[in-house]
Amino acid sequence: METKQSPAFGKETAVKLYDAYERSFPYLRLSLTEICNFRCTYCLPNGYQPQGKPSFMSLPEIERLVKSFENLGVHKIRLTGGEPTVRKDFLEIIRMIGQRKAIKTLAFTTNGYQLRDHAEEWQKAGINAVNVSIDSLQREKFHQITGHDRRDEVLEGVEKCLALGFKSVKINVVLLRGVTDVELDDFLNYVKERSLTVRFIELMQTGDNKEYFEKFHLSADLILDKLKNLGWYEEIRSFDAGPAQNFSHPDYKGSIGIIAPYSKDFCKNCNRLRVTAKGNLRLCLFGEFGVPLRPLLQHDEQGGALEERILKQLTYKKSSHFLKEGFTGMMSNLSSTGG
Ligand code: SAM
Ligand code: SF4
Repeated sequence: METKQSPAFGKETAVKLYDAYERSFPYLRLSLTEICNFRCTYCLPNGYQPQGKPSFMSLPEIERLVKSFENLGVHKIRLTGGEPTVRKDFLEIIRMIGQRKAIKTLAFTTNGYQLRDHAEEWQKAGINAVNVSIDSLQREKFHQITGHDRRDEVLEGVEKCLALGFKSVKINVVLLRGVTDVELDDFLNYVKERSLTVRFIELMQTGDNKEYFEKFHLSADLILDKLKNLGWYEEIRSFDAGPAQNFSHPDYKGSIGIIAPYSKDFCKNCNRLRVTAKGNLRLCLFGEFGVPLRPLLQHDEQGGALEERILKQLTYKKSSHFLKEGFTGMMSNLSSTGG
C-alpha cells in the first residue's frame, strides 16, 4: 500500500493507514474497559451489566497493539471505555504509551470522577489531552443524567487540568432536548473566560436507546443557528481535522465544537479507527463487524502479522455509517464499543 506523509509531522510518522476512499487514519481510539461506574440515561441507564466474567486486554496485549499502530503511523491515541479510569492499571497503561516517541497526543475521555485527585499524576505519566463528559452544568440535572451527585468535583477536575496546562481540555455535551437547549447560554458563558472547548455531540441512536432517542434527540442545527446569530465563526479546518466543526468568537477565550453524525458530510473526514476493550478492530463506530486482533497479541513476534491484518481490514472500510437510514450496526450502547 502506498505510504503518504503527513506534512505536519515529517518522515518518522508516515501514515500507512489509508482506505479505499483516500482517508488516512493517524488516530486510534482504544477502549480499555466496558465497565463504568456512572449510569448515563442515554448510555447505561441501568448501569454496567456484566455478561459472564469480563476479559479485557491486558497491559502486555495493549503494549503490542500500540507498538503495531505506532509502526503504521498512528500518532494520536485516545483512551476510552466504558470509564477508562476504573482500570486499576490505568496509570501503568498511560506510562507505557506515554513513553512511545511517535505518539504525540495521548488523550482520554472520562466522566471525570477521578480527575480532581489524579490529573497531575496522569499528566506526569504522559497524558496531555482530556475530554470530560458534562451534559449539564446544573447540579440536579447532572445528578439525574449520570446517577451521581458529583458535578462539583468533576468541574473542579476540569479547573485542575486547565491549571496544569493540558494541551487540550474539552467538555463533551450530548445534545438533549429539554436540557441543552435550556442551558445553551450557560455553556457559552462557561467558555467566555476559560481556554477550553465545549463540544456539543448529537445524540446517536444505538441498539438500546431507540425510545430515548426519539424523545430526546435535538438537532445540532439549533446550536449552529444560535452560534451564527451571536457572531461565532467557523474555524478553518486543518488537513488532519476529524469530523467536528469548530467555532470561535473574539469575545470568548474558549471555543465551541459541533459533532453532528447525522450530517451529510460527517464520514468524509473520518480519521480514526477503534479497538474495543476485548481487542476487536472496529472500522466504524457503527460498523457491522469487529475483527479479532487478540489472537495476534500473544507474543512479541506477532507484530508483522498483526500489522498485515489491520492493513488488509482497512480495505473493507465503508464510505459512511448509514445512520440516517436507522442503521445502528452491532452497537447496543457506546460504552460497549468505546465512544
Ligand atoms: N465514560 C467516559 C465518558 O463518559 O466520557 C468515556 C466513554 S463514553 C461512551 C464517551 C462519550 O460518548 C461520552 O462523551 C458520552 O457522552 C458519549 N456518548 C455515549 N452515548 C452516546 C450516544 N448515544 N450518543 C452520543 N454520544 C454518546
Ligand atoms: Fe459511563 Fe461514559 Fe456511558 Fe456515561 S457515557 S454511562 S460515563 S460510559
